[in-house]
Amino acid sequence: MKAMVWDGPGRRLVERDLPTPEPGEGELLIRVQACGVCRTDLHVIDGELPQPKRPLIPGHEVVGTVVRPGLGARRFSVGERVGIPWLGKTCGNCRFCRSGRENLCEHPEFTGYTRDGGYAEYLLADERFVFALPEEYADGDAAPLLCAGLIGYRSYRKAERANRLGFYGFGAAAHLLVQLAVVQEKEVYAFTRAGDAAAQALARELGAVWTGASTVVPPDPLDAAILFAPVGDLIPAALRAVDRGGKVVCAGIHMSDIPSFPYRLLWEEREIVSVANLTRQDGEEFFSLARRVHFRTHIHSYPLSQANEALSALREGRIAGAAVLFPDR
Ligand SMILES: [Zn+2]
Ligand SMILES: [Zn+2]
Repeated sequence: MKAMVWDGPGRRLVERDLPTPEPGEGELLIRVQACGVCRTDLHVIDGELPQPKRPLIPGHEVVGTVVRPGLGARRFSVGERVGIPWLGKTCGNCRFCRSGRENLCEHPEFTGYTRDGGYAEYLLADERFVFALPEEYADGDAAPLLCAGLIGYRSYRKAERANRLGFYGFGAAAHLLVQLAVVQEKEVYAFTRAGDAAAQALARELGAVWTGASTVVPPDPLDAAILFAPVGDLIPAALRAVDRGGKVVCAGIHMSDIPSFPYRLLWEEREIVSVANLTRQDGEEFFSLARRVHFRTHIHSYPLSQANEALSALREGRIAGAAVLFPDR
């Protein structure tokens, strides 16, 4: 199979011909139809996350069809379409797994980080961690739902009670979650890099009531803010923007250092929380929601062999919406 392989911090992905993997017990061999490109892939490639698999095939927003089930795998039949998310496997035994918090498992495996992911023609997945996908989404449109949508949704739920909600960084996750917020009659304030006209236009088109640069204090105080951009400087900015009792939710897996800030920004019961990974229950909930809301995804398509170009475009802020790789193009 063709795969885009990473082998160390700072290196570009290299296209390789590798043997198609064999599914083990409880695993599925899946033919990749589309794989989204996530900011986390940049953090992995830049060496910002500890102990990645090496060499590694990145990619954790994978849409594919089941080619062959391994021994004992019975949840899906051959030809069925499935989605493979970031959470590849958990231990099932630690105190977090046993208390409904498998997103915090002590011995997890992550797709496209500690196990091979979807920047390839095929991948293996543990069938217990794979999702059935709503049929009404095309392969490329379903791909960003698997992380931007899903982990975005986990962040959104942390700010559930907010009516006036700020999104810092208007990329793949925010462009999906703003649509849910509109359905739920919330007001979204979209904060982008200064002068990012494309992201601000997309935000307004999708229903944001206000757009502006992330350094600006908005005209009305927010009930909560979600930080999708991995920029620690945004925490004091977001604390300034939220009202008393407000919450600042950090949605990313990695963030640059947070500068010190005066305690009065946190005072009056403001909170800062982070969101880690996903549980399978998040996925089931999110995909049943995706059947009702019908998210419109804005995707930028790339052939698999141009994964490096897609990653550069994401890094440079040139993607309004989500980048998706297609092995067949
Ligand atoms: Zn566990
Ligand atoms: Zn992701």
